[in-house]
Amino acid sequence: MNMEIKPIYPVEPWTITETSFDRKYNYRNETTFSLSNGYIGTRGTFEEAYDFDIDTGLEGNFVNGFYESEQIRYGEANFGSPLFSQSLLNLPSMKETRVLLEDEWFTMEEGTIENYSRILHMKDGVLKRSLVWTSPRGRKAEIRFQRLVSFEMKNIMAIRIQVTPLNFSGKIQFRSRLQADVENHTRKTNPIVDYGPFGRRLEPLRLEGEGHRLYYEGITKNSRLTAACGCSHRVSGSGCETGWEFCIEELEGTAVLTAEAKEGCAVVLEKMLCYSTDLDLPAEDLKGYILDALEEAEQKTFGGLEKSQKAYMGRFWDTADIRIQGKDSQALQQGLRFNLFHILQSAGRDGRTGMGAKGLSGEGYEGHYFWDTEMYVLPVFVYTEPETARRLLDYRYGTLEQARERARILGHDKGALFPWRTINGEEASTYYPLGTAQYHINADIAYALSLYLQVTGDVDYLKEKGAEILIETARVWADVGSFAECKGGRYCICSVTGPDEYNVLVDNNFYTNLMARENLRDAKGAVEYLARHDREALARLKKKLDFSEEELKLWQKIIDHMYFPYDEARQVYPLDDGFMMRRPWDESRIPEEKRAWLYENYHPLFIMRHRMSKQADAILGMYLHSHLFTKEEIRRNYDFYQEVTLHHSSLSTCIFGIVASDIGYDDEAYRYFSQSARMDLDDYHHNFYAGIHGANMAGTWQAVVNGFAGLRCQESRLKFSPSLPSEWESYSFKLRYKRSLLRIGVSRGQAEFTLEEGEKITFYIGGKEICIQENGGRHVEKI
Ligand code: BGC
Repeated sequence: MNMEIKPIYPVEPWTITETSFDRKYNYRNETTFSLSNGYIGTRGTFEEAYDFDIDTGLEGNFVNGFYESEQIRYGEANFGSPLFSQSLLNLPSMKETRVLLEDEWFTMEEGTIENYSRILHMKDGVLKRSLVWTSPRGRKAEIRFQRLVSFEMKNIMAIRIQVTPLNFSGKIQFRSRLQADVENHTRKTNPIVDYGPFGRRLEPLRLEGEGHRLYYEGITKNSRLTAACGCSHRVSGSGCETGWEFCIEELEGTAVLTAEAKEGCAVVLEKMLCYSTDLDLPAEDLKGYILDALEEAEQKTFGGLEKSQKAYMGRFWDTADIRIQGKDSQALQQGLRFNLFHILQSAGRDGRTGMGAKGLSGEGYEGHYFWDTEMYVLPVFVYTEPETARRLLDYRYGTLEQARERARILGHDKGALFPWRTINGEEASTYYPLGTAQYHINADIAYALSLYLQVTGDVDYLKEKGAEILIETARVWADVGSFAECKGGRYCICSVTGPDEYNVLVDNNFYTNLMARENLRDAKGAVEYLARHDREALARLKKKLDFSEEELKLWQKIIDHMYFPYDEARQVYPLDDGFMMRRPWDESRIPEEKRAWLYENYHPLFIMRHRMSKQADAILGMYLHSHLFTKEEIRRNYDFYQEVTLHHSSLSTCIFGIVASDIGYDDEAYRYFSQSARMDLDDYHHNFYAGIHGANMAGTWQAVVNGFAGLRCQESRLKFSPSLPSEWESYSFKLRYKRSLLRIGVSRGQAEFTLEEGEKITFYIGGKEICIQENGGRHVEKI
């Protein structure tokens, strides 16, 4: 049951290559070649800046966490609807650098192009483009562009342009522009949003050119945040520099450098770009900070930054890479690496920012952070780069106060309710049935936190921040439901939306009830842990949160009495209480072109009244807590959900793949995995232009590690149940666990575990305890 792969780019192990320039695919390719470092993100646009319109391209530059607000207009506003939006704001662009050969501007749309390639080097974290251009008047030059967004210096992006005249000597000019007349493409990237941000949102405060630098500062119209950016230029090579000229206007600054070049000798421009905002430091310090950072980057040079970038990437890949061998393996390998590369690029690392569903690669979903981070992305970092996982959790911890306020708005006297969509910590979802009603976000955050604590053993984190998050999220679960007489006194949670967005405002969503119960259990476990190990920390927390032991009793009662919908006839857990009563879905009634876009073509009530599901929901719960179910139970439920799930969300197939592995449906597991692995690289959802699908990208890592290798972490124990897809000869990956680094290699008939770092490690394979006693030690298990 294999699917046919039709690669858009050539299949290569470590690179993504574009071999010709075609306007038609520009918007999509801008996402493919986007670069970021969790702080700044830039789309894969061209330095010579083409005139793409709203449907064909977007010069996008973003700083994680930097947003503009608009007053949201509702036809009928209900109490508690967010009043102000948050949209990741497109910031001034500084990449534009046009190249003039004597009197002809370089453009790929005139003259002739030879040897064109644009290559994303995922191993090195660098984007390179090179070509030989012959101008309409016959001047021939080799032009090479290199770009990186630095992991070493989070505010810095660097560009290097090398021009070598091949058949002439003469004037070469670089025209570098800081363009502050920019706006979001909301109509295209978020078509159902009617509040903007439309038009230019930054009011310029200053735009200056001095020395070889341009500097800009602007303040947003509504959110009143200040963004600052600057770029510096340095030319080297054999060309004889004839100096800089500046042209400064209100919204753009241009720096022009002219050099006299000799045939065959390269002229090189190195351009450093720096962004910062007053979310990081006081507005009055921004200029000094940016100029200093530019100077530091200039001293390092492009080559120096490239070297540190390579070293950073090397460390990342050394732990995070998954290697596969076998049929289709190259295409899947490329997909996996592309996904991991973008995940690495997208995650906020400063403890103040999270990760948008689209990373920093585009404007889709207004740049909002969702549960995607905790349920899909964070587990990958927990096992590969725990420091990044911790910083993502710090972001949530830092927004607890807003989550507390939100809980009060929702009528809960205690606890915190995290927002469904947000940037600044406040709820930004405007349609509560698909937004705030997704209370499960609370349990998702608690789940990710618990996973982090179990895998890393970071007890300090539990004391300092973790327990507080667990208690505050649990409190909402203890308040939202009731022990319903009609359900034999079981605890029911009504009017919530589970992960599945085609079944909304339901009673007793299976996933939500399950995750809520485990959230309560983890919170109780945290309190009990502190009672045993650090009574002072517990006393502090009790005081801070006005928390009493009485609450623990209530939690235990809820844990013991949680209600789950169950269908006796099919012996499955329906999505919610009403699911089995809904009308069976008849896809033949839906014209093909409307099938994947139900909310765009049908009234929500039509969708909600059908028995079908947009994405993994109950099945996801069964994966996350698989130890609570028998294989037979999971199989029955999988079969059931397999029939009714449309996979209209990119978050779905990777989860089905994992569960299929768990129950031995190997062909299906492989098919789902293959779909997830190249979903973005081959643009299966036809909306890659608006940005990556970060959750699915991370989900493919999980599909191998938690799916094929069967990894689960339960009560701090790592458990494996390795299998090998019949299409493959082998695969291998590494995991961090406490202070150890474990390498797992699975090949035909055996799984090999090697302790690469750490003194000793204990884990489980199919219930059997395995202990590797020394660094470098191995265990081989027949499978
Ligand atoms: C999915 C959500 C997801 C969001 C952002 C929606 O289509 O249904 O589960 O959080 O996309 O990725």
